[in-house]
Amino acid sequence: VIRQICSRTSISTRRRILEQADRRRYGNFAVGIEVLPTEIVAVLTDPTGYNYGQRRRGLANMKVESVVREIDVVARDLVTTHLGIDLPSSRIAIGLQIGGPVDARAGLVLSWANHPTDPAFAVDPDEWREPVRLAALVEEGTGCRTVVENDAAAYAVYEQRFGVGYQTGSFAVVLVRDGVGGGIVLDHRVISIPFEIGHLTVQPDGRPCPCGNNGCIESLAGRRAIRGIVGKLLGGKTDTDGIKQAIDLADDGHEKSKEVLTAFREGGEAIARGVATILTLFGVSHVVVYCDRAMSEAESTRPAVAAFFAGLNTFGKYTFPTFKTCQLVLKQWRSTDGALGAALVALNQLFFVPLADLELPT
Ligand SMILES: [Zn+2]
Repeated sequence: VIRQICSRTSISTRRRILEQADRRRYGNFAVGIEVLPTEIVAVLTDPTGYNYGQRRRGLANMKVESVVREIDVVARDLVTTHLGIDLPSSRIAIGLQIGGPVDARAGLVLSWANHPTDPAFAVDPDEWREPVRLAALVEEGTGCRTVVENDAAAYAVYEQRFGVGYQTGSFAVVLVRDGVGGGIVLDHRVISIPFEIGHLTVQPDGRPCPCGNNGCIESLAGRRAIRGIVGKLLGGKTDTDGIKQAIDLADDGHEKSKEVLTAFREGGEAIARGVATILTLFGVSHVVVYCDRAMSEAESTRPAVAAFFAGLNTFGKYTFPTFKTCQLVLKQWRSTDGALGAALVALNQLFFVPLADLELPT
């Protein structure tokens, strides 16, 4: 094979192929896994961030036991298929991320309340309420060293390595999905603390939040909140199709379009309050806001999306004046970014791979 490669390819390509072959034989790798409410997304990478393979796998239910079993299956499959390695292996690390507060040092998921609304996925409400030793459970199954991080913190690591990390050492990430999460990087270090920005109270007597309080940012913004608010406007039926249909309803002509627009604007404003709080406390230069593809800048001609952005842009009103000039960066989350972030966390913590100043993958 090598002789064939030598005869047909340029020197630089040849060098790259041989380096990769060396890496496959001797290098370290990480499987990054994003645990979502009804599925897991996994990616296999090396210290350059190269994507060797990815998997997306639906979960039968959200019991801890089932989640751990699926993680095991996916990790083994990726490593065997793409590297020819059978687990356990000291060259493979596993990074997990989940949308709840974690104790990364102890490998614990402190709680997880981001339960799917679909009754088919219902779990015993007590199941994720007490701390879960997720890292240890996965480690026991796979035999690979495993770390766990909060989802937004994993996105922050991804940004540090491939995004705004090239421009600044201090920034925050706000992740708007079903709920609203946050992660923060200060002086090039991801601060691994529970950073529950989605649960700042912005309307003291506002809507109930899944956390048990009222008027949290997350009760006004994010897919779950918008579905709930718009569902109520339509007479109590919760819309399962979600955000896209809500955006359609805000277009002119629908009898509830005005109220739907207000919901989107209030959602944007709620996040603006969170951004303002981050800025006032930490004075970072950039805040990256990750949204649904349906809420991207490309869609800002849609009245609902425009209303959301208008709300979001009010952050300066609530920010300590010195930090008003912060740059707000809007992004859509892509399916494997979060898993890649989790893999980078594992590479960093278990194989000491630096997160900044690395050569970009080609
Ligand atoms: Zn809350």
